[in-house]
Amino acid sequence: MARGEGLSAVPALHTVLLTCMDCRIDAYSAFGLAPGEVHVLRNAGGVVTDDVVRSMTISQRKLQTREVLLVRHAGCGLTSFTEEEFAEELADDTGMQPPWRTYAFGDPVVGVRRDMALLRRDPFLRPDTSIRGFVLDLQDGHLQEVDAGA
Ligand SMILES: [Zn+2]
Repeated sequence: MARGEGLSAVPALHTVLLTCMDCRIDAYSAFGLAPGEVHVLRNAGGVVTDDVVRSMTISQRKLQTREVLLVRHAGCGLTSFTEEEFAEELADDTGMQPPWRTYAFGDPVVGVRRDMALLRRDPFLRPDTSIRGFVLDLQDGHLQEVDAGA
């Protein structure tokens, strides 16, 4: 029996969770969630990109989600290089610059605030969207909520 059998495609908690692709993160257990409760989006860093906004907009418009949880983590691989270093590395290896950004960052708190501000301004997300940001500590599983900042 498939794990999703009998579950609605509409997330029961009306929530989208964005986090890093880091293989140590169990996105469900970090929040005590189960299948059927949230949409989980993941990419390198857990960064809001055009494609993340695309998925969030579809999630809201077609599958009734209203809350967004943004989760970055301490010790993320995206803090281990800069945008420029990575582009140079790729150019040295392939002779080409990537058409996309890595969104490398230094401080996950600053990054989460950037993403909260970006989503608040997004014209396609519903204006009543609840947006919360967190930084996950992989050592002890603690989630620190990040205020939106000034
Ligand atoms: Zn990461």
